[in-house]
Amino acid sequence: MLPDAVSALFGGTATDVVRECRRCGTTVDATEESCPHCGPESDLVSYEIA
Ligand SMILES: [Zn+2]
Repeated sequence: MLPDAVSALFGGTATDVVRECRRCGTTVDATEESCPHCGPESDLVSYEIA
C-alpha cells in the first residue's frame, strides 16, 4: 500500500479517460469499442479528465 503522498502524486498526474454511451448513458471502460447494452451500433463519446 502506497503512502498518501505517493498515491496523490500519481493520481494528480494521470489523465483519466471516461467513455460514455450517448444512447443509454452507460459509462463504458475506455478500452471498450462499444456499449455492452447497445452493441456495435452504440454511439460512444470520450472525455479526458486531466
Ligand atoms: Zn448504450
